[in-house]
Amino acid sequence: MSGRISVVLSQGQSRHPDKRKLEEELVAELIGRPQFDLCVIPNLYDIGWDDSAFLALEGITGPMIVLSWHYPRAAFWTLAQLGIHGRFGKSLLHEAEEETDGGEESSQSSSGPPSSASDPPASKRLIYCIDLRARERAEEYFEELERIRREATTRLYTLQLVSASPPADAEDTSTAQPTTGEPLATTAPLRRRWYPVIDYGRCTNCMECIDFCLFGVYGVDAMEQILVEQPDNCRKGCPACSRVCPENAIIFPQHKSPAIAGGAVADGGLKIDLSQLFGAPSAQEIAARERDEQLMLAGRTPVGQVQRQRDAAAAERNELDDMLDELDAMEL
Ligand code: SF4
Ligand code: SF4
Repeated sequence: MSGRISVVLSQGQSRHPDKRKLEEELVAELIGRPQFDLCVIPNLYDIGWDDSAFLALEGITGPMIVLSWHYPRAAFWTLAQLGIHGRFGKSLLHEAEEETDGGEESSQSSSGPPSSASDPPASKRLIYCIDLRARERAEEYFEELERIRREATTRLYTLQLVSASPPADAEDTSTAQPTTGEPLATTAPLRRRWYPVIDYGRCTNCMECIDFCLFGVYGVDAMEQILVEQPDNCRKGCPACSRVCPENAIIFPQHKSPAIAGGAVADGGLKIDLSQLFGAPSAQEIAARERDEQLMLAGRTPVGQVQRQRDAAAAERNELDDMLDELDAMEL
């Protein structure tokens, strides 16, 4: 048995005609397929808790497919940070790169609105995130959307059969969300945002990020779990803390480097530090420089300068100590 499934199309920030064309083709086709409840939203990374797009996402209670211009890992954890939780569903379009992510459940705390997201239920519904850069033609997505619909809704039906008291969100989507046949669209352009997204499937709660960031972006919840508390304090374009995270758990979905934007992480998550081989600046040195640049732009004293002042003061003290030692030795 299989039913309907929600498909969320997250529009890209870019106005590139090829991207717009693909989005339009997907919308046109999905409107004509009643088994898909389509919801078109602005770029999901830009959504805040005050936006109607968030309410639209929050209103989806069953499994969903999210089509966006982000890596699947980035989209999944961006949703989680908004308080939209579920289990990571694997798409065959990203089979190779999702090896380390399968089965991840986003039930960790988020810094979302206290009423709904600070203590989210552990959702068992599947969330499939598909990167629209994976294929060029719209037709290539439809087969996969159908496969996912069958997989997700059949799994949901099975869950209901085996469970005496199924989870509240495990409803049959064939009846859960009445549809008018029209896509739900909340596409008013949003301001562009820039903030870190934590992949809790990788995070070990080591607190390196909160110690490193001097802009008050990170915090901890009641269970001492790291969270992005003040996302909009993050400095636009700064990816520094993602370089110091030892687990590659910090994602900036809009960054141009796949390693920072949530691309596949190598097995074991070990960072290959080429600087060790070629004498280039280390990731920590680059991060420190990037943080100093942002501190200066914010009119604050860079850490490097403070350190240099401390080193100079320490050197002066040492010189003075040496002189005093010499005077003592002369027994004047
Ligand atoms: S540095 Fe990375 S692993 Fe450590 S708490 Fe921050 S996000 Fe988690
Ligand atoms: S990118 Fe920079 S400003 Fe933003 S959270 Fe990380 S260290 Fe803080």
